[in-house]
Amino acid sequence: MYKPQKMIVMLDVPARKLNRTFILEQRERILERLKKYNDPEKIKEQSSELQGEITPYQFYKLNVVSKKLLEALKLIEETPEQYGVCLDCSQDIPLERLKKVPGALRCTHCQTKKDQK
Ligand SMILES: [Zn+2]
Repeated sequence: MYKPQKMIVMLDVPARKLNRTFILEQRERILERLKKYNDPEKIKEQSSELQGEITPYQFYKLNVVSKKLLEALKLIEETPEQYGVCLDCSQDIPLERLKKVPGALRCTHCQTKKDQK
């Protein structure tokens, strides 16, 4: 009888197509974005019509985005197998969503539900 080879599964999660390469790529993207959010000059550029002043809404938005990115980064570095899994329903977050929103911690459905609260 065929005896399955014992495999060492570390960072590879082939079932979800979230392999180590993808995780590392996402990590890079998140770091890139965080750099942007943490650079006051860039923020000024984005709101040049306000002459360097950031509206409370923009400030809030930037904070929320960078907070999410940091959370995702923490997942990637500490528990990569959790990245890509929705925090609420434990379903896989579609790869397409992660590519667009590397900081996504929930599937679209749960995130919408949460935002409505
Ligand atoms: Zn979900």
